Amino acid sequence: MHALQQQDPEVFAAIRREIDRQNDGIELIASENFVSPAVLQAMGTPLTNKYAEGLPGKRYYGGCQFVDQAEDLARDRAKQLFGADWVNVQPHSGATANHAIYLAFMQPGDRLLGLDLAHGGHLTHGSPVNFSGLLYEAHFYGVEKDGAMAGRIDLDTVRERAQAVQPRMISVGASAYSRDFDYRALRRIADEVGAILWVDMAHTAGLIATGLLNDPLPHAHVVSTTTHKTLRGPRGGMILVGNDVESPTGAAFRSGKPKTTGQQLDSAVFPGVIGGPLMHIIAAKAVAFGEALQPSFKAYQERVIENAQAMAEAFIERGYDVVSGGTDNHLCLIDLRSKGLTGKQAEALLGEAEITVNKNMVPYDTESPFVTSGIRLGSPAMTTRGFGPDEFREVVGLMDRVLAKPDSDVTRETVRREVFALCETFPLYQPEDVGLDALAAG
Ligand SMILES: *Cc1c(COP(=O)(O)O)cnc(C)c1O
Repeated sequence: MHALQQQDPEVFAAIRREIDRQNDGIELIASENFVSPAVLQAMGTPLTNKYAEGLPGKRYYGGCQFVDQAEDLARDRAKQLFGADWVNVQPHSGATANHAIYLAFMQPGDRLLGLDLAHGGHLTHGSPVNFSGLLYEAHFYGVEKDGAMAGRIDLDTVRERAQAVQPRMISVGASAYSRDFDYRALRRIADEVGAILWVDMAHTAGLIATGLLNDPLPHAHVVSTTTHKTLRGPRGGMILVGNDVESPTGAAFRSGKPKTTGQQLDSAVFPGVIGGPLMHIIAAKAVAFGEALQPSFKAYQERVIENAQAMAEAFIERGYDVVSGGTDNHLCLIDLRSKGLTGKQAEALLGEAEITVNKNMVPYDTESPFVTSGIRLGSPAMTTRGFGPDEFREVVGLMDRVLAKPDSDVTRETVRREVFALCETFPLYQPEDVGLDALAAG
């Protein structure tokens, strides 16, 4: 980063501080992770200069022979990783991947049935402030309020909602749900009402790729994901089809000719929602998928779940309410109402101690989305750094000290120093990993 430091010290300083923040603090945001130095390197390459509209071998620009190689590697590895017939690695983000899915299968005004945002769903699953809620008629299902299924999705409730709503498409997938889904049963429900089953595995793709959670690919008509959450690749999106048969809508995107689901989705990605793909990011996706195919990636994902469970149990032991009573995946949701704190307060207090979390709505929350009654905690990032269950239990102890004494600056400062010490023993990026040479690092 020598050139950057000399030419633009202001931007350089911001980047430098952010690298330090990542190195020095405890990162518990469930959607975040730390990519490898190899993935970082692929992103910072001149592949960013290349226009490559279209697909490998069928581009609208010359000079694509080498970026074609990178995209073919990304596609082949993604197919192998997920056992998919078809994949498109071009969406710039999870939201863009989802946008293409709507464009491929839904007419404006068509009905969607999705998981309520306040119950762990995502904005792109029909929220009124998102294109999905503005352009389509969104209906929702949620988790149960009481009883044995409290905090969990009950498939009988989903079936009732599907029969009442008669949606064109049902979306399954979440940003803050700590339990697994029965995709086979969900497909049965979709078939009963003639709906398309779309699974958005943005959060859990890494756990699914390694066989630790149920696999949606054999059951869903279409699957979308981000590449930067548990999958630990560059920021981006991807769409997959397990069994690429004729499209469920029977006709291609705007052409009327029958096509496979994958062909229909290719047209919905480009020219439907993107222009030129980000070839430097696609190269980095290929690198990340290569990493995910290694045996060590499965060991990592096993540890992600073990750590999230250790964290949830430690909170329960300390008298906190964990939504649904625990976790099957990489995250847990803490309901802070019994502790007299809002999510907003907890996020700010923990932030002062260099523990980064995000406030989050809990099911049946009475606070606004900006305040919330909960926090969402994930294990992927600190597991990448080498934390095990002992460290996660220690971190819960630190968080509890901060949250138990919201008025104590001294407690937060003491905890902050302990956080620095703990992070120092689990180094993240070395200066050379992030392109900081000796001069820049000085
Ligand atoms: C994170 C997420 C997305 C959006 O991904 P972006 O890359 O932030 O656009 C979509 N769906 C779900 C379920 C997510 O968790």
